[in-house]
Amino acid sequence: MFPVNTLRFRVDSVTCLVIVIDLTVYARVMHAMSSKPKVVVIGAGIAGLSAANKLYKSGQVDVCVLEASERVGGRIHTGKIGDNTVEFGAAWIHGTVGNPIFDLACDLKFLLKSDLYKMWKNDDSRVKPQFATSQLRQLIDDQLLTEVWDVFDNLISETDDISKMRTFTESVTGAKMSVGDYLCQGFQCYLDSCTSDTAATKKLKVNLFSFLEERECNSSGCNSLHDLNLEDFGEYVDLDGSNFCPIPGGYDRISKALAAGLNRDCVHFEHEVTQINWLASSESDAPKSRYPVKIICGNGKTFDADHVIVTVSLGILKEQHMKLFSPSLPTDKINAIQDLGFGYVGKIFLEFEKPFGL
Ligand SMILES: Cc1cc2nc3c(=O)[nH]c(=O)nc-3n(C[C@H](O)[C@H](O)[C@H](O)COP(=O)(O)OP(=O)(O)OC[C@H]3O[C@@H](n4cnc5c(N)ncnc54)[C@H](O)[C@@H]3O)c2cc1C
Repeated sequence: MFPVNTLRFRVDSVTCLVIVIDLTVYARVMHAMSSKPKVVVIGAGIAGLSAANKLYKSGQVDVCVLEASERVGGRIHTGKIGDNTVEFGAAWIHGTVGNPIFDLACDLKFLLKSDLYKMWKNDDSRVKPQFATSQLRQLIDDQLLTEVWDVFDNLISETDDISKMRTFTESVTGAKMSVGDYLCQGFQCYLDSCTSDTAATKKLKVNLFSFLEERECNSSGCNSLHDLNLEDFGEYVDLDGSNFCPIPGGYDRISKALAAGLNRDCVHFEHEVTQINWLASSESDAPKSRYPVKIICGNGKTFDADHVIVTVSLGILKEQHMKLFSPSLPTDKINAIQDLGFGYVGKIFLEFEKPFGL
């Protein structure tokens, strides 16, 4: 079963048989036979907690989670301002039909199946704004607003048609085009066709259109529509159902429930991972270990693993992948980290003395 070296030698005329067992190999073999593979998940955000939960429930592996901060949830962060519960991070389930978060929230009895199509009061999604004002704070005539909205709505809806966008890109320049480029050229065609517009009306339309573009940036999570690749934009699938469904009592109830479903002490807080040595067992100078992955934390703790699941954000990967992974990641992964982008989402909380607009 495991390597056994035999030595024969003479002591006081007695032949002894000494069995020398390579204990390292013995340990490795016994471990392989008796214990489950070890998986370390890095990050206790919704991605890490979901992965850890699935693995733990499978009963097939030993799993632990290393989290840099002192709480679970990551960008899900429910807090308090005064007596009010506020979502500093994620607040909504965008599209409830077929959404695993909605299904989980129902299983946990935070939501009801009958909430699938419920219209929450913030449900405004991608629709014509009810009104708009000029830069001089004058109400813009609804007919003009409708006209510009229709142009915008048609153009942005056209971007859903991936093959049409591919043909368009090839026909125009042969180079990559952005959603912003497509909207700009379409809007310019419309403006050129409005030959009777005064300069003031034209300016109003331009301002209105750029307001609608900014609004679209918010729902697409980008800083500029020029950051979005035209050919890929239509791949995003909007789920049906309620588009702004909250978790009553706070989104963090989801992350806390996922963490509670794990083994006690499974999540190690204040364990910022500083290095993932993913070829540890092949290092010639290191003591032989059966584990191919060695994870080093900033607090000096180390963890051995058969597999590691890294769920840190794209921003952290962009900034740290070179020093985080040893050896460095394969080129295709590095290219993906470099090529993917993201926008910034900020929230401003205003506290009023009295409720209004309810
Ligand atoms: C302001 C804001 C509003 C949002 N609103 C919505 C919304 O309404 N609906 C929606 O669906 N989405 C929303 N999102 C997006 C959503 O919050 C994220 O997509 C999601 O929470 C990301 O989860 P994640 O687990 O992938 O990453 P994260 O939540 O970022 O989790 C990563 C975890 O890794 C930890 N970590 C990082 N580096 C290390 C390290 N070296 N060692 C150990 N741990 C580490 C972090 O501390 C963190 O806990 C919003 C995001 C923001 C910022």
